[in-house]
Amino acid sequence: MKFFTLFNKDEGSRPIGFLRRYNILPFATMIMVLGGLSAHNYFSQKSVLLKQLETDNINLVHSFHAALTRFETIRKTVNLQVLVRNISLELEIFEFRYLDRNGIIINSMFQDEIGRTFDRPGFRENLQKPDELGKFYKDNRDMTPILAISYPVYAKNELAGIIDLAVDISDLNYMENDLRNAAVRHMQRDIRNLLKAIAGSVTTSLAVYETLDYYDFLRNFTATSNNLKQISILAPDGTIELSSDFLLVNSTANIDNPARIFRGMFMYDRGQPVYRITAPLPNMSHGGGHEHTLLMQVNASEYARNTRSLLMTAIATTLAGILYAVLIAYSIYQVNMQNVRQERDRLEKEVEARTKEIKQLSNTDPLTGLSSRRYLEEQMGVEFKRAVRYDHSLSMLMVDLDHFKKINDTLGHLAGDKVLSEVGRRLGKTIRETDFIGRYGGEEFVVILPETPTSDAAQIADKMRELIAERPVFFEGRPINVTVSIGVAELCDSMTTYEEVFHNADKALYTSKENGRNRITCFNPAQILRPT
Ligand code: GH3
Ligand code: MG
Ligand code: MG
Repeated sequence: MKFFTLFNKDEGSRPIGFLRRYNILPFATMIMVLGGLSAHNYFSQKSVLLKQLETDNINLVHSFHAALTRFETIRKTVNLQVLVRNISLELEIFEFRYLDRNGIIINSMFQDEIGRTFDRPGFRENLQKPDELGKFYKDNRDMTPILAISYPVYAKNELAGIIDLAVDISDLNYMENDLRNAAVRHMQRDIRNLLKAIAGSVTTSLAVYETLDYYDFLRNFTATSNNLKQISILAPDGTIELSSDFLLVNSTANIDNPARIFRGMFMYDRGQPVYRITAPLPNMSHGGGHEHTLLMQVNASEYARNTRSLLMTAIATTLAGILYAVLIAYSIYQVNMQNVRQERDRLEKEVEARTKEIKQLSNTDPLTGLSSRRYLEEQMGVEFKRAVRYDHSLSMLMVDLDHFKKINDTLGHLAGDKVLSEVGRRLGKTIRETDFIGRYGGEEFVVILPETPTSDAAQIADKMRELIAERPVFFEGRPINVTVSIGVAELCDSMTTYEEVFHNADKALYTSKENGRNRITCFNPAQILRPT
């Protein structure tokens, strides 16, 4: 918050209100462009990472395919079916089949019965009576006399399967009885030895076959591949048939539809970032012929970490950009404000100077350079108050040019003006620093004399009168004789306004005129003083 108060100083309540005032559009555009670029950068780099993950895992799928094919080849070579099929007997074999312990036909001379349950009458009962297994018996099948045996094969002391064998003995029928019995005994011994050998190799084969387990294969492949977490093989209906994680077997894999093509996707499985691959597995011998689906889960925490840091970078870049934009905006604003402030100060100074000038002008009479009537009255008001308060004396003179109209009429206005300014100059010369002189009207001047009683004022007035009268005023080389009449008046205790002093001075002036001009008269209500 402290950061934003920076922008608040001149703006009042709203934070970054200056952005509103100083055209937000360029900054909004700048921020949008920055955000857009960051987002574009983020998504394109992310897709590169994903592509890389996909490529790596396509290779993994290929190597799994190769390993599986090899595994199945090895498995096939020790397959019991193949092993038993390769056994040849130098006997007149009538029937030969190998059954597993549940009576399913694993191998047979008769190809079409492989995979079926063996259903010869009485065989099931014999299975329950192990003593009956391994005994020879004679029988007739399809009108042929045979010698038959169901021979048990044991693995780890358990019944693993049964070799069912029948030998054609029709040739023996033509022998003498004794000879025939001897031949049968011989044959039985040979067959038993052979069966022993077969059972031995079946047991060994079974032991080897057991080590070639799909679960072990998948688990080993998973363990030796970096980052590979799980491999499962799915039946066409989506149930997990085989898996490196045996707990998953028989559960349903939660994939929408088994993939017919390679498909990889990044996802979270129980909170862990994984890359899940599904791919078709067409040549799987397990489960015979159906198309299986390969499901792999690869640890993708590195991808997750990288994309996260990409995102952080994008956000940081955008934020830095916004900060930058705001700072630039703020500096521009500051510079503007400084310019505005400077301009304002300059204008204020100019106005002040102008005002002073105008005041000076209005306080000054342009023709004589003396105070104007307005200023004169103002000063009179001030001096009047001061004199009343401190009980000081205050006098004033009212000076009027004699027969001035005549000068104007005979010599012209310019001559009149020259006379006025010269009289003003001479009068101005005689006053003290604390006195005021001004042009009151057309050819009338007023002199304010603070702290001066009438007696002193009269002396000053007479000096003025003399100063005007003693020398003519020259206009265009011609002398003009000028005289003035003066009225003198003083502040009295009874007065309440300065106009009363004016009034009295005016009266005194009138008396001077009446008495012949070129003289001074002091106002006296009782007796009017008349100096020579
Ligand atoms: P008095 O002796 O009785 O004062 O006679 P006067 O002629 O001086 O008095 P009056 O009031 O009759 O005339 C004043 C004349 O002053 C009238 C006017 O034309 C003239 N005047 C007033 N102001 C100016 C000015 O600024 N310049 C000039 N040239 N004449 C002015
Ligand atoms: Mg006059
Ligand atoms: Mg006059």
